[in-house]
Amino acid sequence: MAQVSLKNVYKAYPGNIEAVRDMSLGVENKEFVVIVGPSGCGKSTTLRMIAGLEDVTKGEIWISDKMVNDVPPKDRDIAMVFQNYALYPHMTVYENMSFALRLRKYPRSEIETRVKDAAEILGIAKLLNRQPRELSGGQRQRVAVGRAIVRKPMVFLFDEPLSNLDAKMRVQMRTELNKLHIRLQSTMIYVTHDQTEAMTMGNRIVVMKDGIIQQVASPITLYDKPVNKFVAGFIGSPPMNFVKGEIIKKDSKFFFTGDGFIVKVVEDMHKKLAVYEGKEIFFGIRPEDIYDKLFTSRASSENTVKAVVEIVEPMGAEAYLYITAGKSSLIARVGGHDRPEVHQDMDLVFDMSKARFFNKDTEETIV
Ligand code: ADP
Repeated sequence: MAQVSLKNVYKAYPGNIEAVRDMSLGVENKEFVVIVGPSGCGKSTTLRMIAGLEDVTKGEIWISDKMVNDVPPKDRDIAMVFQNYALYPHMTVYENMSFALRLRKYPRSEIETRVKDAAEILGIAKLLNRQPRELSGGQRQRVAVGRAIVRKPMVFLFDEPLSNLDAKMRVQMRTELNKLHIRLQSTMIYVTHDQTEAMTMGNRIVVMKDGIIQQVASPITLYDKPVNKFVAGFIGSPPMNFVKGEIIKKDSKFFFTGDGFIVKVVEDMHKKLAVYEGKEIFFGIRPEDIYDKLFTSRASSENTVKAVVEIVEPMGAEAYLYITAGKSSLIARVGGHDRPEVHQDMDLVFDMSKARFFNKDTEETIV
């Protein structure tokens, strides 16, 4: 098993496209790291550079104690699973899974043991004689993973492997890949644009935007302590609400005033917000930290604002309310049975101890 590290890695494509910029990242032995970010942010390019499918423009890539910039893909001891599975259509599942081992001239008995073990782990032992066209999407993806497992690589790389599956199968495969990681105890790097997938799979998550790492942290740290407005908005569903406004001071208390509402800032945050008095700032609050006054005991005159419900999305256990407060549009996540009616006036209560504030220019988290 192995560590992977990127040291100040850059990738420029012809036409001045800077796909990855100054990326440094250490992936520990046996760690499951997920790289997440919107389409085009450089995730696949990063993975392909680790695999050796793309050259590095500048910087170094290390696998264990070897710098691999000039090592061809086949000698890097990694296995990559792609979104489109890339199975050979005319080969059976067994032949697909054993192909790389046959190429490397492994003894037949060793190949058979490895394929059967992998098929057992993935629950596809009964499918070994089928061809890819006779399989469902989920089964094909298992074969693609199986093909990687039989090689017992030092590092597994996954490039959006679940994107072509339906929603239910995606959730199921997510759990299976998690179990697989625990079982194989191997180093895995997984790329996805889906923040839910990232949150549920990674030991650590790397959030990227425009070719640049924004934050590397555990799922819960990303959620609770995003370093900037981008990460705060990208991680979490429905996303964090943002309102542009101003910090004002009245009778030595601090308030945030947005488009048509005013709320008091909790004392813990005064120190960090003091220099922003009278300046524009972003206020952020997650949907679950907004309550309907009728269903909470947190309300006070200083954290409650008047609002109108525009849309209600019942989800079963919970409901999402799309609300207007002043000129601001907000989403609240409330209990499924506690929901108001559309167009109803309501009093919204903010849990201000959970509020976040971001610098308007740099968008970095202030508190
Ligand atoms: P992601 O995987 O996050 O969607 P990519 O790594 O595929 O992003 O792409 C990052 C950027 O590099 C994008 O702007 C994309 O258009 C560009 N890009 C990717 N591959 C190539 C290529 N072969 N030639 C030129 N530009 C590319």
